[in-house]
Amino acid sequence: MRRPLIGQELGELVELALSRGEPGYRGRQLYQGLYRDQHGGPEGISTLPRAFRAVLERDHGGGLPSVQNRFASSDGTLRYLLRLADRKSVESIFIPEVERDTLCISTQVGCAVDCKFCLTALLGLERNLTAGEIVGQVLALSRDQNLDTRRRRLNIVMMGMGEPLLNLAAVMKATRLLADPEGIAIPQRRITVSTAGIVPKIAEFGSHEVRGKLAVSLNASNERQRTKLMPVTARFRLGDLLDACRRYPLRPWERLTFEYVLLRGVNDSNADARDVRRLLSNLKCSVNLIALNPGPGIPYSTPEPGRVEAFRTIVHRGIPCFVRKPRGRDIFAACGQLQRTEAASTP
Ligand code: SAH
Repeated sequence: MRRPLIGQELGELVELALSRGEPGYRGRQLYQGLYRDQHGGPEGISTLPRAFRAVLERDHGGGLPSVQNRFASSDGTLRYLLRLADRKSVESIFIPEVERDTLCISTQVGCAVDCKFCLTALLGLERNLTAGEIVGQVLALSRDQNLDTRRRRLNIVMMGMGEPLLNLAAVMKATRLLADPEGIAIPQRRITVSTAGIVPKIAEFGSHEVRGKLAVSLNASNERQRTKLMPVTARFRLGDLLDACRRYPLRPWERLTFEYVLLRGVNDSNADARDVRRLLSNLKCSVNLIALNPGPGIPYSTPEPGRVEAFRTIVHRGIPCFVRKPRGRDIFAACGQLQRTEAASTP
């Protein structure tokens, strides 16, 4: 089995160099070439001897996912369909903003969690992504968009396809690679990992020294409602989820984010908003509201803007609460719409 270079940490690359009869510092040069200078593979790394590059290319390859397709939204958002080594594909989203850019990346091909408002759920889980494939999405989009993370602020959100906490080892390794100041150099505080609430994994996630910020998809104001919308609640109860959040080791600069998808007539009433405020009252957190992004086969509809604002106002009396602008809805790039649609626009 070829083991691609992208996804390997410094120690592994040093080992690799040594095992090929090269001095250890060649491993560091390889690391810098892949992650700091972002060459995509060994070929372009001119600090390395030609013969060593050829061996690396032959036996490993960079393993960068290739851009299979791109869809452009009228709002500037770009949805990428990236092809992996086994020809499976995943989606990653480039979201340009005024002061910064955001990349929304995937952690699994498909998803096993089965949330009733999300299109990715319809795919089921195909497989986990490797750390290299997670980092590879950032490197591939960064190349395609000519991003310079050292000059312009870039945020990474692991909110694409998949449930990050069900692929924890790869997510943590990818985060170390993304955050390393000697490499890709995206600070931990600009990386966000969003979970549907895999309770036992929350403490484990928090035990890693290098980790992104944690966002939790709440999406309901009580246990019964949440079990309907997110059947995973039957296994990981809402009370236990909130307990795990209370115990979560926040760093001094950090707070939790709770995401809440508003579904018209289902979880968007004033009473729901008050219940959310009460549920979260003793947590250091903020709430991001997202009005449902509709999709074929999703049996819910989007609340009116006035309803969203009323909900926000009520939550905001107790907890900082913001409305997340939908981006890329017209190209199926918005939250919950990632199912590798080949069409560029909603029907
Ligand atoms: N599995 C992770 C990350 C992927 S989902 C998680 O559940 O958090 C990323 C965010 O999109 C979640 O907050 C989810 O609740 C939200 N989402 C899913 N489907 C959506 C839809 N149709 N409209 C708006 N947001 C949606």
